[in-house]
Amino acid sequence: MDKVYSHFDRFMVFQVKQLLDNKGIPCFVKNEFAIGAMGELSPMDVLPEVWISDPQWLPKAQLFVKQFEQEFESQTSNHTPWVCVKCNESNLANFELCWQCGTENAS
Ligand SMILES: [Zn+2]
Repeated sequence: MDKVYSHFDRFMVFQVKQLLDNKGIPCFVKNEFAIGAMGELSPMDVLPEVWISDPQWLPKAQLFVKQFEQEFESQTSNHTPWVCVKCNESNLANFELCWQCGTENAS
């Protein structure tokens, strides 16, 4: 089994899952509830992930994920990422709250 995608935003992960489902690629989500369960684990250990259950689909899946990411980037590239005043984490422009600590975008 192989991981094709992981993202701190569960919504993104499910979009990828949906995309692969639509293409008929067998896949599943791991760490779905990871963010809520975050505690002693470091954030990198608990990112929601999309996994491919059959390796023969992996190249195709990676291609779709790449397209998905490019599309997402082109949607957000007009906006400048912002940096959280509280924890200094950089956030994508379309996020209203800091993904790390939940502080509102002050800028
Ligand atoms: Zn923050």
